[in-house]
Amino acid sequence: MESKGVKIKKLVKIYPTSKGKEFRAVDDVSIDIEPGEFVTLLGPSGCGKTTTLRMIAGFETPTSGDIYIGEDRINDLPPNKRDSSMVFQSYALFPHYNVYDNIAYGLKIRRMNKSLIKEKVENIIELVGLKDMENRFPDQLSGGQQQRVALARALIMEPKVLLFDEPLSNLDAKLRNYMRTEIRKIQKKVNITAIYVTHDQSEAMSLSDRIIIMNKGRIEQIGTPIEIYYRPKNEFVADFIGIANIINVNIESVESGQGLLNIFGEKIWIPYNGEIGKRKAIIRPEAIQIGKKGLISGEIVLSTFMGSYQDYVININGMDIKIQDANPQEKEKFTEGEEAYISFNTRHVHII
Ligand code: ADP
Ligand code: MG
Repeated sequence: MESKGVKIKKLVKIYPTSKGKEFRAVDDVSIDIEPGEFVTLLGPSGCGKTTTLRMIAGFETPTSGDIYIGEDRINDLPPNKRDSSMVFQSYALFPHYNVYDNIAYGLKIRRMNKSLIKEKVENIIELVGLKDMENRFPDQLSGGQQQRVALARALIMEPKVLLFDEPLSNLDAKLRNYMRTEIRKIQKKVNITAIYVTHDQSEAMSLSDRIIIMNKGRIEQIGTPIEIYYRPKNEFVADFIGIANIINVNIESVESGQGLLNIFGEKIWIPYNGEIGKRKAIIRPEAIQIGKKGLISGEIVLSTFMGSYQDYVININGMDIKIQDANPQEKEKFTEGEEAYISFNTRHVHII
């Protein structure tokens, strides 16, 4: 299927507050999404994800800004004329219709002929894995199956853009992981552009071509999962995605792509070509090695066996540093109260 990109330019949504003031729920958001791309809007509750998605779908009117699907500016089109379909967290199925009729509903409204509807519904049922469930009613389906019906209902309208608002939040953890791979598979198979709202970072990491990190109505960073994880632009992004040690450091000098880093009083050269001065270093817990020798010493204040890694907190100059030490069965473990040393590959120090 030919897919279309989505462009959003300087999108703003202001809600009036009870005190007569303005609240900027979405504040100057610009996004350029490629045809066939899978993009997630990720951020804490209340940061404006749903409002952004609803403006794209046409359920909410922007205060200002422009929205394009392909070449067409769609601000003034009603939702059913927009080439987009939305999949909701609540599924929004008709309880008194069976699976077949729930999926066929949108086409019946469009007065498509019966045999063509039948052909399309059967294709979609196959695609989303609901064969032999045609006659069941929503209350005879598991949560995962209901979500497949909701997805089928969106897909059958052959939209150019699929919009998802936290579609898996009502499922238990195992099923959520399974359904997200299913969604990704189906999205790739039909080659449709997808915009997916979630507050769950692992969902965003596993699904996305690119992640858009939102905070207080604004975009903090747009990037691939790898860029967002290893090169967060600021403290908010570093802290929101994964676990981050955020350490005050001083860059004392910079020469030919190397910076002299002062970290806990130790001086080391790291790959760097930014400015000198007081900065913050981001080091992920799995990038730190722990041992009886190393760069900087501290006292172990927490040592927890987590199965695939040993979880340590080591106190260095009054600051707690988190370490995830992989393959703990291969190593001698440190216990609380012991002295230990940390070291790290200088390539894994990211300065913000
Ligand atoms: P998210 O989906 O990221 O959790 P929302 O987009 O739903 O956030 O909401 C963003 C902010 O806008 C929230 O503070 C929310 O309370 C507010 N908001 C959402 N809808 C309305 C509305 N209809 N009227 C007033 N405020 C709203
Ligand atoms: Mg929301």
